[in-house]
Amino acid sequence: MIEIRNLSKHYGPTRAVDDVSLVVEEGTITALVGTSGSGKSTLLRLVNRLIEPTSGQVAINGTDTRQVPTADLRRRIGYVIQNHGLFPHWTVARNVATVPRLLGWPKAKTEARVAELLSLLSLDPDTIGPRFPHQLSGGQAQRVGVARALAARPELLLMDEPFGALDPVLRGKAQADLRQIQAALGTTVILVTHDMSEAIGLGHRIAVMRAGRLEQHGTPAEILSAP
Ligand code: ADP
Ligand code: ADP
Repeated sequence: MIEIRNLSKHYGPTRAVDDVSLVVEEGTITALVGTSGSGKSTLLRLVNRLIEPTSGQVAINGTDTRQVPTADLRRRIGYVIQNHGLFPHWTVARNVATVPRLLGWPKAKTEARVAELLSLLSLDPDTIGPRFPHQLSGGQAQRVGVARALAARPELLLMDEPFGALDPVLRGKAQADLRQIQAALGTTVILVTHDMSEAIGLGHRIAVMRAGRLEQHGTPAEILSAP
């Protein structure tokens, strides 16, 4: 379970995130939706402490994230961004192995995990694993980004507009993949999107942000029936 309590991030006069409190239940997808500039990305980056809050707390399964060393946070919280952020000079397999290698996993365990994840995401480990990011299609690169984020079995997966760069057909496939993987692994997910239909299609819960504030939070049915 993720508990966000009275979290704020101010940049001078801009309240990027303004006193947000939100609980994300274990094993669920929460879709964080809102217009551009409403504070979604900032909230996500506060959760994994890529940036530090002005005030407020985040707890992951009962532990305040301030008490968790950064290397542990990188293992416990996976992060996927729109342009997938793959390291261009590393092969797919090496990219997926990033966090296990940082953690010093034995080579055999790392290789087995990389193959398992690539297969789970319908990427053939033998042909795709040795490729470099520029040799992948957009959809493949996006799935490699997800595989990398899942490599060390994170408790929480943060996704910031992960499908934004995909064409509509690939986006539909990627959304179906995410639903299937999330159901299979039971990973808790916070997904940022500006697309309400994507939020409704994927989220067990929807959190609506406006001007840094959490405006609404509920099931898709509750959000749809709100005035
Ligand atoms: P969203 O992800 O919903 O598009 P952001 O979280 O990126 O919104 O931004 C929220 C607000 O905070 C915007 O007004 C943005 O300009 C501002 N902001 C975000 N990051 C910074 C920063 N590093 N410095 C100054 N202002 C920022
Ligand atoms: P930047 O160069 O933008 O400051 P960082 O140094 O924070 O980015 O991160 C370097 C790379 O690690 C990026 O490609 C980013 O996508 C990835 N990364 C950042 N945070 C995490 C995380 N919590 N889990 C997995 N990968 C991450």
